[in-house]
Amino acid sequence: MGSIPAQNRPLNVIVIGAGIGGLAAALALRREGHRVSVLEKSRFAAEIGAAVHIAPNCTRLLRRLGLDPQRYRANLLTGVSNQDTLNFLKNRALTRKKMNLFDSSGKAPPTIWDFDEKDWYLIHRAHLHGALKELALSSKGDGTPVKLSVSCNIVDMDPKEATVTLDSGETIKGDIVIGADGVKSWSRSYIAPDVEPYSSGKCCYRWLISFAEIEKNESIKKFSQWHGRMTEWDYNDRRIIMYPCVDNTMYNCGGFIPRAEIPDEIFGWSHIASKEKLIQSYKGMGQEVEQLLALTPEDGLHIWELLDMDFLPTYIKDSLVLIGDAAHPFLPYMGQGAAMAIEDGVTLAALLPQGTSTDDIPSRLQSYQKCRKERVERIQILTRENGKGTNDPNAKRITRDEALAGIKYCQNYDAWESAKQMLVDSHS
Ligand SMILES: Cc1cc2nc3c(=O)[nH]c(=O)nc-3n(C[C@H](O)[C@H](O)[C@H](O)COP(=O)(O)OP(=O)(O)OC[C@H]3O[C@@H](n4cnc5c(N)ncnc54)[C@H](O)[C@@H]3O)c2cc1C
Repeated sequence: MGSIPAQNRPLNVIVIGAGIGGLAAALALRREGHRVSVLEKSRFAAEIGAAVHIAPNCTRLLRRLGLDPQRYRANLLTGVSNQDTLNFLKNRALTRKKMNLFDSSGKAPPTIWDFDEKDWYLIHRAHLHGALKELALSSKGDGTPVKLSVSCNIVDMDPKEATVTLDSGETIKGDIVIGADGVKSWSRSYIAPDVEPYSSGKCCYRWLISFAEIEKNESIKKFSQWHGRMTEWDYNDRRIIMYPCVDNTMYNCGGFIPRAEIPDEIFGWSHIASKEKLIQSYKGMGQEVEQLLALTPEDGLHIWELLDMDFLPTYIKDSLVLIGDAAHPFLPYMGQGAAMAIEDGVTLAALLPQGTSTDDIPSRLQSYQKCRKERVERIQILTRENGKGTNDPNAKRITRDEALAGIKYCQNYDAWESAKQMLVDSHS
């Protein structure tokens, strides 16, 4: 094995966007001894969002970064249930296209599976975001604290020179620029100007219901006793998913419906969506659904359009590298969007250890692309398939074993170790 060339000075890293991916990358690179500057467009007045999955492939990376999800009120996911309120699953058991989850009698089991894995967490996005920010900026811990600038309006970038220019006229020079500016990425235009996200045809309601509210209603009380359990109602082109977060005190609820059903709705976290329309969308899905939807807080219902995007030809150009949703927007059907953004950031840090010379950056970014692109695209394909409606004629029929194999592919992976192995292989 040849030696890995080293230099004494730390790398200067510019990160565009302080979302989950940008902060994870910043924290991981800081721990490698680099000087990291994060430029965020928003004011960060109050971080918003609902809950996100931290599957085992993500948990092991967060632990490596010194972040224990349980310290931030995450709770374990222990199982998944499919509620057959309409006998829909039973009736469709033999013809159901998407997933053959049934025993030979054609009866759907109430529980799809229970996990052996004890490291799959559900966490409020604001708690995860806050934890990453706290660790990245802290004066304690390895490396130099990350410098975070908010309300930044970046107007230009030179990927060759690794410079970005703010609207104030200030130009910041780095050795590497990380584009972590989310699904509507500005930095992506320097790599693939013609690639834009497009509507997936679905949109998603998001809201939270407290366990305490559910407990008061005798007919749905059982849900307040299902700690750690994700529950799903799946009916033709629509679906409701509900899973606990914040130490099993809140249910994070997601309602997926066709985009065409609400053509005039305003999307985004700053707009309150109509509870009446939500209830209308799930009419006829049984009493339990009705009772649960009635608990939706009037002032806490949001809806956003689910965007997808074609695969990019590359994630890199000169010293610019894309991570997270900027490189590969994820639909929410496998709970891997945040995990993939964190894997990206940690992979970069593993490939740019302390002592990396600026001359080595181009080859390390090529290694990043090799580590990430194939894996991410495979998981994007699995995610799209998982999002298809039970009545979708194009949905593939997959067996329970195939579904579990997909989940294992996501989760039995250590992005840090894989990147380190690639580094060793490239020098042997
Ligand atoms: C406010 C918000 C709430 C969310 N809530 C949920 C949720 O409840 N559940 C869920 O599963 N997923 C949610 N997501 C999406 C999820 O966090 C991401 O899909 C995933 O974590 C990938 O992270 P990312 O860092 O690539 O992108 P994001 O988390 O989207 O972060 C991108 C960051 O870049 C910033 N940015 C954008 N443009 C620029 C620019 N030109 N210059 C500088 N900064 C820029 C944005 O303000 C943002 O902070 C949310 C995202 C956001 C931004």
